[in-house]
Amino acid sequence: MLPNGRTTWYKVLSNTIPSQHILAKMHPQAPTCTYCHQHEDLAHFVYQCPIKLPILETVLVMYAPLDFLTQIRYLDFLLYLRHPPSRLPLKRALTLFSVTLHHIWSHHWQCKIHGVPFQGHRIVRAIVNQVRSFPLD
Ligand SMILES: [Zn+2]
Repeated sequence: MLPNGRTTWYKVLSNTIPSQHILAKMHPQAPTCTYCHQHEDLAHFVYQCPIKLPILETVLVMYAPLDFLTQIRYLDFLLYLRHPPSRLPLKRALTLFSVTLHHIWSHHWQCKIHGVPFQGHRIVRAIVNQVRSFPLD
């Protein structure tokens, strides 16, 4: 598991992701998603945002194509560590989701803090390169 991804995943599991809704309480800013301007909760921050969902879908198609139709099981795994994906070995699933979360997280903050455009294809490329750096199961 990617150590930085583990930290981000812990924030997801403990529901401590600083979403726009929470940030707006501390600093005056819009409580909505930076990208699509919809209400931003944990699920939206991680995957439901129409800008972020294609990233997760692309990664699932690449690494778990037979399980793509059971996306809800992966989301349950991601948000609650429930129903681990059956066809993807657990070790590989932990690697894949920790890397994906880390890159969504880091690109999100690069966009918000430094104005780096949040581009799905760049993020998917970064995820693929990072996953390749892990040994095959
Ligand atoms: Zn959004």
